[in-house]
Amino acid sequence: MGVVQLLRFAFVVVITCQFGAHGKVRYDGYKVFRITPRTQDELKWMQGVADRWETLDFWKHPTKVGRPVDVMVSPAQQLDFVRSASRPGLEITTWISNVQDMIDREAAEMINSKNEVNAANFDYNKYNTYEKIFAWMNDFSSSHSGVSMVQVTTTYEGERVYGLRIAKSPSATNVAYIQGGIHAREWVSPATVINLINMFVSNYGSDDTVTSMLDNFVWIMVPVYNIDGYKFSRIEDRMWRKNRNPNTGGCAGVDLNRNYDYEWGGASKSKCAQDYQGTEALSEPENSGSKAFLQSFGSNLKLFIDFHSYGQYWLYPWGYTRFDVAHPDKDEQNALAIKVENSINSVHNKNYFVGESGPDMYPATGGSEDFGYGSLGVKYSYVVELRDEGTFGFELPERQIQPTAEEIYAGMKTLGQQLVAEYA
Ligand SMILES: [Zn+2]
Repeated sequence: MGVVQLLRFAFVVVITCQFGAHGKVRYDGYKVFRITPRTQDELKWMQGVADRWETLDFWKHPTKVGRPVDVMVSPAQQLDFVRSASRPGLEITTWISNVQDMIDREAAEMINSKNEVNAANFDYNKYNTYEKIFAWMNDFSSSHSGVSMVQVTTTYEGERVYGLRIAKSPSATNVAYIQGGIHAREWVSPATVINLINMFVSNYGSDDTVTSMLDNFVWIMVPVYNIDGYKFSRIEDRMWRKNRNPNTGGCAGVDLNRNYDYEWGGASKSKCAQDYQGTEALSEPENSGSKAFLQSFGSNLKLFIDFHSYGQYWLYPWGYTRFDVAHPDKDEQNALAIKVENSINSVHNKNYFVGESGPDMYPATGGSEDFGYGSLGVKYSYVVELRDEGTFGFELPERQIQPTAEEIYAGMKTLGQQLVAEYA
């Protein structure tokens, strides 16, 4: 047993003791406050509050005047938080009065009945366990021609991260890459990627757009990128976001979406923060491995999309700065995103905000959209926040999986048409 194994063994023991055999992290009495800054002054104020309360869990950061800020606060911190966030005229409302109640309701709605999984009985309208998703990937790839499993990277805990590789035409060399589940608690993201895979493959041959997308590109689609975190969010802590690196001397977890190597270094240095950036760029095996994998395609890589939730945003680089730093592809990224959004919108009438990640949302260094564009050189590099706008947040009911997938599928077809027109 090497030092690393020893540390990991010790870590498992600690976890077991902390939560007990049936233990789960509980959120009794945790509230989610919603605060909507109405002026530039109030927005700055809220950004200052977020900076001071670095280890609080901001579900939605302060970004723009009129856009709500959602923050989860433990019972012990509530009084101090409200005091510190208050200022005359600024309204602080309680959106979720007890996060645990919401988690319990969600758990009650999720009835897991089918144990044996194959592509025929897999339930696409559920938030499935990773084990079920893996079994489905395995079965789906062996039952469809041109579909195989490909290892993209490895997790901290040693899980192999697989994508489904859809290669219908042997002559296709260009590659389109999509990943879900980099943030553990954003469960609609893996569910959407899974549904997209199924929709792409089942409409091949009958839908002209999908057929040409699949004939002209190799699609690599990863449903669950952060496997360790996803499992942990199901078993121990519904609100887990990061990976499961135990981080010597501090809280566990690195935010994989602050750990990529383009302009790394401006996110949190606190191991207990939700956006802890890690000890250096690509310190996490998930990210260093996937970079090597994606780099191997060189300039054939034509699309990079990273799905998250929630908020309904379709965002392009740069993300690392709040300033509008010019780059030559911004207009094209924006124009395509607007077309994609129109298609999304036409399905169920849901609006997705289109914009530049840093200036229009909030700056975050080491993020995926900058990695795709800045490190990998992919022009069409996007980070997408799926449903909803803040009614259910991370706990989007399972009945919304299908409509989310339907609208994103429509958006992806518009995007795919552009890829075919430009590169095929
Ligand atoms: Zn996310």
